[in-house]
Amino acid sequence: MLDLAKIVINLINFQVDHAKTQTQYRKPLIGFASVNDPLFNQMKEIIGPHHLHPTELLPDAQTVIAFFLPFAETVIEANRKDSQIAREWAIAYIETNELISTISSELEKELAAHGINVATQPATHNFNEQDLTASWSNKSMAYVAGLGTFGINHLLITPAGCGGRFGSMVISAKITPSSRPTVENCLYLRDAKCQFCVKNCPTGALTLQGLDKQTCYAHLLEVDKQFPDLGLCDICGKCAVGPCAYYNNR
Ligand code: SF4
Ligand code: SF4
Repeated sequence: MLDLAKIVINLINFQVDHAKTQTQYRKPLIGFASVNDPLFNQMKEIIGPHHLHPTELLPDAQTVIAFFLPFAETVIEANRKDSQIAREWAIAYIETNELISTISSELEKELAAHGINVATQPATHNFNEQDLTASWSNKSMAYVAGLGTFGINHLLITPAGCGGRFGSMVISAKITPSSRPTVENCLYLRDAKCQFCVKNCPTGALTLQGLDKQTCYAHLLEVDKQFPDLGLCDICGKCAVGPCAYYNNR
């Protein structure tokens, strides 16, 4: 019998192992969610009515596949060590978005060979520039697929931390859903023992009360000007290099 989960996991691992990138990665994490999970309906209330249900991307959808590509520790250390945005972090952002696109198209081809329909989404910039709300949140897909819990940095903290990038797609075949974690991975939400991300935010956009998306995004666009040779590089990540960057603080 076809072991679809294994096919997906092997393909993602292969693509990351053979990626021709400057950026190095740790082992990818992969999770699965049923499109019947009630959390997908709740996203229209939490994120907004414009957020797509998986069946709006693919009418015969059965499963959401989510994956996390964790950056090597050297990339995270580079962006942690001073107040400037590290060039290694910028390159990792660009290269990983491309790698996610490659993984998505390779998975689409592989699954199509088994008669399975696939709908993919870009790794980033699938949001409304006015109110900065996403029509498809890769992080939220990864949450439903059991890859982690949200920290007060508004990032998903996985067992391999939050220093990396997420991809997701919808397919027309069933794969057994992954279970979700039962403990908070953010040290502040667990026992108020950390506020690194809030203190390390250079703009004050991130507070214990929430994230001012407009202030944050204005800063990201300023950072983009520092890397004119790399393409659109609206990044910062100073809230992604704390104690939850590599691990889930277990
Ligand atoms: S830096 Fe600390 S407070 Fe912020 S998300 Fe990570 S663990 Fe939570
Ligand atoms: S990306 Fe930068 S500006 Fe935005 S919340 Fe994180 S640390 Fe603050």
